[in-house]
Amino acid sequence: MRFDVLTVLPGLIEGALGHGVIGRAKAKGLIAFKVWNLRDFAEGSYRQTDDAPYGGGAGMVMKPEPIVRAVEAISAEGEERPWRVLLTPQGRRFDQGAAQRLARRPRLLLICGRYEGVDERVRALCVDEEISVGDYVLSGGEIPALVVIDAVGRLLPGVLGNEASAALESFAAGLLDHPHYTRPPEFRGMRVPEVLLTGDHEAIRRWRRGAALRRTRERRRDLFERVELSEEDARLLESSP
Ligand code: SAH
Repeated sequence: MRFDVLTVLPGLIEGALGHGVIGRAKAKGLIAFKVWNLRDFAEGSYRQTDDAPYGGGAGMVMKPEPIVRAVEAISAEGEERPWRVLLTPQGRRFDQGAAQRLARRPRLLLICGRYEGVDERVRALCVDEEISVGDYVLSGGEIPALVVIDAVGRLLPGVLGNEASAALESFAAGLLDHPHYTRPPEFRGMRVPEVLLTGDHEAIRRWRRGAALRRTRERRRDLFERVELSEEDARLLESSP
């Protein structure tokens, strides 16, 4: 899969992509990145990418010409036309389902705003989808773009060492993940649940499923209400933790 990112702060994106799971996927050639500096598509000696808002008021607005020119040039490069995503607090809220959906695209172009955001005409001219990472306002679309890259990238085949792990995580099956423990078996008087030390895989599977169900019911009623409970699930919920 290939990610293109359009930004006025390329260093912010590049610096983050070299680490951890995504950095390794890049090194292995499973994910390719190209970060584009919007300034390279701006004209005039000042290479201006923003300007004062019509109608007055505080802050600056990102000019439409450099963005549209850049998106057209980026789209023309390579074989696949990218799916073009604008990061904005006014977009559809990003979640695991959206990450799964985007992971099926061969190429994504993430367009990062700054200041008061982008000129409204950009949306109609060169955006396929608008995504928000949550109901709060950040100072730029770069961190949201990294959120999307990380969440989508780790779903791609081969990126996580253990193929099974993405399927078992929080939200993958509409539930929060079960609790995790590692050594030591007792720490500050708190013991790891005995069943996890038994090596009885079936008992461990049931314990984890029950814990995930209870945790989701306690913390995320909204998710829990959408889960289709099997007969086993109902039994696990009744039995004490
Ligand atoms: N005035 C705008 C906010 C601009 S914030 C408004 O109220 O809608 C500046 C830029 O940061 C945006 O263009 C967007 O690219 C990015 N951004 C800020 N918060 C975001 C969020 N929750 N999700 C995605 N992008 C966000």
